[in-house]
Amino acid sequence: MKVAVYPGSFDPITNGHLDILYRALKVFDKIIILVADNKSKNHRFDVNSRVEMIKKATSTLSNVSVDSYDGLTVDYAKKHNATHLIRGLRAVSDYEYEFQLASANNFIDSNIDMVFFMAKEDKTFISSSMIIEMYQNNVDISTLVPSSVIEQLKKMK
Ligand code: ADP
Repeated sequence: MKVAVYPGSFDPITNGHLDILYRALKVFDKIIILVADNKSKNHRFDVNSRVEMIKKATSTLSNVSVDSYDGLTVDYAKKHNATHLIRGLRAVSDYEYEFQLASANNFIDSNIDMVFFMAKEDKTFISSSMIIEMYQNNVDISTLVPSSVIEQLKKMK
């Protein structure tokens, strides 16, 4: 069974993230979405609500689970018998950061490899921060995020 970890902030999860997930599910048997519980980063949503929003958005997918972790992603992957880490690539600006991340992960453990999916053309502009900015300025974001995110945003208003 091919297991992969899909790590990220998911602050909040977007349809851009979900598109990468659906496509990765054609390659891997099981995917663990791993929400970064990085205390030094300023997240908009706490880790529990980020996990909850993802759980609701993926509840029909039996081969997807959601977890959070505050350590090294490669350590988590090893513990859960995952061989690959999934990431998405949007613009060239993503590339530099992702390349650095892949090199660092490879240095830590070369048995865990990273795979990248290119963002769909109509999803390249979607980022968690863009979603928040649009929402705060009354733009209809219902086609850009799962309904669990809209529900959570409404609660915060
Ligand atoms: P991080 O803070 O770890 O970068 P993010 O939640 O911002 O976490 O992103 C997780 C992964 O999803 C990253 O590889 C990012 O490039 C990718 N990603 C984010 N938005 C999109 C999108 N719209 N299309 C494709 N990939 C995306």
